[in-house]
Amino acid sequence: MPSIVPIPDSPIREDSSGVIKFTNCLLVKNNALVPQDLWISSATGKILNGQEILYSYRTAPEQIVDLGGRILSPGLIDTQLNGAYGFDFSVILEDRDCGASAYAKGVSRVNRSLVATGVTSYLPTLTSQLPSVYQTALPFLGPSGTTRDATLGSESLGAHCEGPFLSPTKNGIHNTSVLRTPDDSISSLESCYGAPNLLSPSPISLITLAPELPGALSCIPSLTSHGIRVSIGHSEATYEEAKCAVKAGCSMITHLFNAMRPLHHRNPGIFGLLGTPSSSITKPYFGIIADGIHLHPTSIKIAWNAHPDGLVLVTDAMRLAGMPDGTYEWTNGSKIIKQGPLLTLEENGKIAGSSIQLVDCVSNFLNWTGSTVPEALRAVTETPARMLGLEGVKGCLDEGADADLCVLDLKENEDGEKRFVVDEVWKFGVRVFERGPEA
Ligand code: ZN
Repeated sequence: MPSIVPIPDSPIREDSSGVIKFTNCLLVKNNALVPQDLWISSATGKILNGQEILYSYRTAPEQIVDLGGRILSPGLIDTQLNGAYGFDFSVILEDRDCGASAYAKGVSRVNRSLVATGVTSYLPTLTSQLPSVYQTALPFLGPSGTTRDATLGSESLGAHCEGPFLSPTKNGIHNTSVLRTPDDSISSLESCYGAPNLLSPSPISLITLAPELPGALSCIPSLTSHGIRVSIGHSEATYEEAKCAVKAGCSMITHLFNAMRPLHHRNPGIFGLLGTPSSSITKPYFGIIADGIHLHPTSIKIAWNAHPDGLVLVTDAMRLAGMPDGTYEWTNGSKIIKQGPLLTLEENGKIAGSSIQLVDCVSNFLNWTGSTVPEALRAVTETPARMLGLEGVKGCLDEGADADLCVLDLKENEDGEKRFVVDEVWKFGVRVFERGPEA
């Protein structure tokens, strides 16, 4: 079990330094598991240069955390989370004032619960909605920024607006009655999301749109110029249209393979971007739902082999995660049937999101692709951080990065299947979760 060993009498200094040293651990660094100590500061919430602290400043750690040989990973990042613990980011109660306060409480509840799953930061994701929903919800979903409070739990890195500028024929579970077209002007996006929400610093980090819609391409540079990343998704785009979208500034593909044209040998579609020479375009990042329902394991392996640096594991989980099996009300009058992790829309049997945890996606990825442990963890740490422009801040164990950490145990059953277990979670240098003894 995890143990924290306070040092009662430091030989070097006796005042409270807030310096913590993790020892007897395997650090996930540079695609390797490195047996090395990690030093952090609970005062600044950042990772320290251990050598400098020890030798230059002669500061002893206030605490030494012996991890018994377990893995110390950067905290996990989920770039597509629609809701959890019974709360849906896309649902606001009717009464605007009362609804807003209930909404804020709901977001806060998700943050505090989510962190225990190892997800220390994420993009709260809105499915296609009417403009009033975006304009009410977005002010509550922006990046936490300078509020570095570990007690608040998991941290928003900005909202992901998945829609409503999506193809009506690749809508998935999105209600077609709220889908829109950009009509060749950024003002149509402003009237949907609210103009202030598109200005830098925007509460929106990522917008998924279908680039083949009339006017969509011309809106992409306006969005990226305000720091909003644009992802191709729920789209009928051909390979050529998808390439144009990347040239216009799209840097991501939302849940690759799902809600888009399948790979055809004469038209590889959006998937074809992964095979395009890097001299021609900057290959986009791509989201993968490794829940065993959305995608065949072999499809995941093919995508990873095509562009390993771009693969980002996402849950696409929604509010029914962790709830009992049954039939539940969904938005816009539809119903969802939950059977184990499988969620389907009652009216047409379409897959309706996922109820998996991100750490289980990492375990699946490890088992299905033959990747190494650091390669699997990279898909939920360093790669999403890079996709969001947060390299060196999130998703790594480098000096100066945020001390968002996950202590992972890697278990293996008799069939050789591996499974990560989240033993501890640290946020901004403070331990916020420790797994209790097995029941
Ligand atoms: Zn989707």
